[in-house]
Amino acid sequence: MGIWLNYKNVVKRNCTNSQDTQQDLMYWRNNLFASTLIFLLPLCFIALLPSLYWIYKTHLLSVAVVDLLAVAVVIFIALVPGIKIITRKIIFMVNLYVFSFAILYFVGPSGSSLVYLLACTVFSTLIFPTVYGYWPAWGNCIICFLFGACIYFNFLPVSQQHKIELGEWIAVSMNLIFLSFLNVTLIPRLFKGLQSTINKQIQLQNELIQEKQALGDALKKLSQKNGELEQFSYIASHDLQEPLRMISGFLTQLKNKYDNKLDEKALQYIRFAVDGSQRMHRIIKDLLEYSRASKIDKEVELVDLNTLFVDVKGVFTKSIEECKAVITTDQLPVINTHRTLMEQVFQNLLGNGLKYCRTDEIPRIHVSAKDINTHWEFTFKDNGIGIEKEYFEKIFIIFQRLHHKNEYSGTGIGLAITKKIVEYLGGKIWVESDPDKGSIFYFTVLKKNNNTF
Ligand code: ADP
Repeated sequence: MGIWLNYKNVVKRNCTNSQDTQQDLMYWRNNLFASTLIFLLPLCFIALLPSLYWIYKTHLLSVAVVDLLAVAVVIFIALVPGIKIITRKIIFMVNLYVFSFAILYFVGPSGSSLVYLLACTVFSTLIFPTVYGYWPAWGNCIICFLFGACIYFNFLPVSQQHKIELGEWIAVSMNLIFLSFLNVTLIPRLFKGLQSTINKQIQLQNELIQEKQALGDALKKLSQKNGELEQFSYIASHDLQEPLRMISGFLTQLKNKYDNKLDEKALQYIRFAVDGSQRMHRIIKDLLEYSRASKIDKEVELVDLNTLFVDVKGVFTKSIEECKAVITTDQLPVINTHRTLMEQVFQNLLGNGLKYCRTDEIPRIHVSAKDINTHWEFTFKDNGIGIEKEYFEKIFIIFQRLHHKNEYSGTGIGLAITKKIVEYLGGKIWVESDPDKGSIFYFTVLKKNNNTF
């Protein structure tokens, strides 16, 4: 086995070019050439045995010489290093033609010579570029003509003479020529088809690489812009806080100091202005949270979501008591995650469940969790006012609200923050809802190592 493998490696090294790629037709032609030599050499020895026996019986020593010479040349081409592949191929073809002609000359057309001549056309169209396609067929024409001349001028060995008539040879050789031309016409078609398939593949690959590059560039620009935008909104909202604090502070002072001197209309205006500044304060606070959503709390820790949920529920104690809401949970997992981010998600979803409740029913909110292999899936189910199907996507976009602030207070940022956090945690968020029946908010988070229940 070791000898066979070594032998194969030597022939492959000699007859193929390591720089050729599989998209190169020459790669396949060279491989075919190497494989032909790999199998031909042992077969030559096997074929040599019966021919040597036959030669021993018929005393055709000249054929023995031709046979041995041909095998020697094949060994030379396959095993001797340092020769160019094209030279090896040319020697191989010349050897095959000489061998075929010699067999034809010494044994006559009844020997295997015609088969070898036909094989010459097959081999040469397989291992040489298509442009040389018709050369082997013409080669066969010349050999047929030469052999015809040998018959005509009685140049054949004595044993061969009177064995074949010129007319008979013409008939036989016409068949050989016909088949040779058929071969050299058909085989290149196969290569043409292969070439165009390979070309298409290369073109597609190039296009893909270009598109990938363009996409990469666009993504880079996008994330850069996104970063700038986040930075901008952070700075803007942070800087806006100060003048806003001044406005509401002075308004409160105005009201306190001049309360008796101002008429009802003026006081109403001040109330509106205070309301407006408070609302603006909430928006700025939410905006700040939005721009910080995926920046803070990079530390992952083991978080028991049952305790976290109790904490979050504590934030809403007042409104839970007011509306007598019933809040239940399944056993929640203990997971490796960013505590404050998870807290914020829970807070936003629970807060919305409590806020968007129906007046005719006690709010009921149920929270559950499910292990879905790579992720945890959480659900927040409520029996609130529900959402129309057409808004299922829209509500996750920043500032998108479905109600006027007088109906339900809010800034339209909570779900956008939640979505951003969930995506940061490697998951997604979506909603299923029936208007007037309630909503189920689903979200997933990617499991980190060692997640446990
Ligand atoms: P906000 O509550 O401040 O308006 P959100 O981003 O949290 O902003 O929500 C966006 C919109 O989605 C809300 O205005 C509301 O119309 C709708 N919404 C959110 N949660 C619920 C819910 N549980 N039930 C019904 N509608 C909801």
